[in-house]
Amino acid sequence: MAKIIELNNISKTYATGAVSVAALQGVSLAVNAGEFVAIMGPSGSGKSTLLHLLGFLDRPDSGGYRLGGKDTTKLSDDQLALLRNSLIGFVFQQFHLLPRITSLENAELPLIYAGKRHLKEKAMERIKDVGLARRALHRPNELSGGEQQRIAIARALVNDPLIIFADEPTGNLDTKSQNEIMAIIAELNNKGKTIVMVTHEEEVAEYAKRIIRMRDGKIIADEIKKPAATDLAEGPQEIAVDSIVSGAHAETKRAEITDHFRQAFWAIVSHKMRSLLSMLGILIGVAAVIAMLALGAGAQESIQKQLASLGSNLLTIRSGSHRLHGVSLAAGAVTRFTFQDVEAIRKVPGVKRVSASVTGAAQLVYGNKNWNTQVQGTGVDYAEMRAAEPAVGRFFRQEEVRMRARVAVLGTTVVRQLFEDANPLEAYIRMNRISFKVIGVLPQKGASGWHDNDDVVVIPVTTAMYRLLGKQYVDSIDVEVENIGLMDQVQKSINDLLIKRHRITKDSEDSFEIRNMADIKETMEATTKTMTWLLGSIAAISLLVGGIGIMNIMLVSVTERTREIGLRKAIGARESDIMLQFLIEAVVMTFSGGVTGIIFGAGIALLMALIAGWTIKISLFSVILATTFSVVVGVIFGLWPARQAARLNPIEALRYE
Ligand code: ADP
Repeated sequence: MAKIIELNNISKTYATGAVSVAALQGVSLAVNAGEFVAIMGPSGSGKSTLLHLLGFLDRPDSGGYRLGGKDTTKLSDDQLALLRNSLIGFVFQQFHLLPRITSLENAELPLIYAGKRHLKEKAMERIKDVGLARRALHRPNELSGGEQQRIAIARALVNDPLIIFADEPTGNLDTKSQNEIMAIIAELNNKGKTIVMVTHEEEVAEYAKRIIRMRDGKIIADEIKKPAATDLAEGPQEIAVDSIVSGAHAETKRAEITDHFRQAFWAIVSHKMRSLLSMLGILIGVAAVIAMLALGAGAQESIQKQLASLGSNLLTIRSGSHRLHGVSLAAGAVTRFTFQDVEAIRKVPGVKRVSASVTGAAQLVYGNKNWNTQVQGTGVDYAEMRAAEPAVGRFFRQEEVRMRARVAVLGTTVVRQLFEDANPLEAYIRMNRISFKVIGVLPQKGASGWHDNDDVVVIPVTTAMYRLLGKQYVDSIDVEVENIGLMDQVQKSINDLLIKRHRITKDSEDSFEIRNMADIKETMEATTKTMTWLLGSIAAISLLVGGIGIMNIMLVSVTERTREIGLRKAIGARESDIMLQFLIEAVVMTFSGGVTGIIFGAGIALLMALIAGWTIKISLFSVILATTFSVVVGVIFGLWPARQAARLNPIEALRYE
């Protein structure tokens, strides 16, 4: 007969504070395959401690333990978990069924850790064996104590173990249930299972074939009452301990992950309020970031559109910086430009197009309609340089500039004010009492801030200067540079040229200024970047706060489910399995918070767009970013609680009150 278990001089001492209790003192014991052993003795004699050591739920302080001839004292925790999963089934006094899942799912649990979920029907078979098929889909709290214990036995059997360890299996049951359970256990032994059972009731021990009595951590009697079922053909001769502990099925299985997700879902759903509150930090943070990014990106897009319509290779030369400060400088400090300057600038290398401008106000009259607007006199190149090619009609030509022709291109606001729905083309309007022919309508540019860019009339610069506004000089000169790389160089050449032409001295160098569109853009982009950083830090802080909330609730969850963790470990979950389970729970929580946050944030942004008419832009990038961050927060802040759970000692966890 093969020896399954060989204990040699095992000792175990519990040290609690100053007192240390020697629970086992040099216990040696051998159990053969097919035996049914009852361990008896008064309370505190070390029975449970012995059973837990036998079942690898705890480790001895000293002594040897061979299972199937293989020394187990040097095996790692994970290897012991594999042994528990493959070779051992436990039946506990308190049943330890998980409350939120059905009986069938409880019985299936060890299969999940064995990576054998595809053998699901085995769980149902074992439940049939214990006579509870019709209760398989009930939750444990819908079953009587005896029925719960039968489900626990089905669970212990599902991986077809060699040995069943039972710790006071009938301790919580009435006599009738006790007899039923003991009949089942005795029958298991008859079919070849080795059984080691702790009990303090003689009538329960009656079922066993061998009785070991303990006192003060020692075996004081060992009596074989009936022979073990030695003639069992199917009795195990070789136990593949080596192949099991080498981790033949050590990797985490898909079924296990599915199970974790289900558990995480249930854990969250069964504590709705609590989960919602702990998700709130993540939710608010993500919602705020999504909303702000959407509004920020919308604003940025409309600004960029306007900048693009100005052209990015543009230099603008203005006379006199006094305009900037609103204070007139002393006479002579302001440089005034003429068409000769314009022609000189046109010859500077790198310059593509030049257009002189003057601006002024004018009173427009058409029929009985009046409108006061800004008049802009420009050259013919203005249309292309400022992306102002008329949407309807045409721009004026060089010939018309030379002739000081009275033609006008109107902005859409002006058209609306003067013509309403009528066609403005070819109509004659009066500007400061001078008659102009409308030849085109400018494309719509929208507003920038309070300024309506469409409230303008564009006419030839010469007409504006000499006929309408009575100006001798141009107000500004737009220069388009051939390509953006030449901007600085051209700017400098023009600067030098103008200084030379106007004999400007050092102390009046600011009597004109050259503005660079690229510079303006750069400033805009820098501002946007600052905004992004600001948003980023708000996001980081809220995710940190949210993460701490998650960590807190996960620690609570781990504490609440300490016994569940103990049970899972007893049936073969490794540290990594438990860790994964709680990490997934944390991630599911932060992920749900994140997704809800995205929906809320998008909702807020859409609301702002509807109510305030703001431009918004919800980018896929921001959604992906927010989702990723909420998952990462879950992993980071779930890590510590999950580790706490994973490192629990199985037996301490099982006995946690
Ligand atoms: P039995 O199962 O025979 O009642 P146990 O094996 O549970 O006995 O306990 C043996 C002795 O070890 C008792 O004195 C008990 O108080 C002590 N003991 C058991 N577990 C612990 C523990 N986790 N910490 C401290 N002492 C313990």
